[in-house]
Amino acid sequence: MHCPFCSTTDTKVIDSRLVANGDQVRRRRECLACGERFTTFETAELVLPRLIKQDGSRQPFDEDKLRAGMLRALEKRPVSMEKLEEAIARIKHRLRATGEREVKSLLVGELVMNELHKLDEIAYIRFASVYRCFQDLNEFRDEIDRLANRNQKND
Ligand SMILES: [Zn+2]
Repeated sequence: MHCPFCSTTDTKVIDSRLVANGDQVRRRRECLACGERFTTFETAELVLPRLIKQDGSRQPFDEDKLRAGMLRALEKRPVSMEKLEEAIARIKHRLRATGEREVKSLLVGELVMNELHKLDEIAYIRFASVYRCFQDLNEFRDEIDRLANRNQKND
């Protein structure tokens, strides 16, 4: 780390602590050449990949849009905002974990479907039908039948 005052590379860390709920490390450094002190902040790179739409265009990941879409599917369903936020955090984690700079927007759709499936089946069906993730109407009907059968068994 160069000293911002005299540009020497000879600096030492004199204090190091976690800040921002542990998301950041704050380091106090001292230059061994000129004796000046300065602070650095270190964070993990949390860049989300850009999304490749089906027409090939790219757009940045939009968390608000994701949340709005999931909220629409969850309207009047017994799912807390806390559960929704946890699901969104998992989706973002999965996207970052790809390590890619760009991913197909379809991947986001699949991740959302996955999470909604765990949260609420009605919301899952709503989302799936809106996003046309079912190949055709029969597949959609099969899925509803499957869920209906399962619910009957649970009763
Ligand atoms: Zn210096």
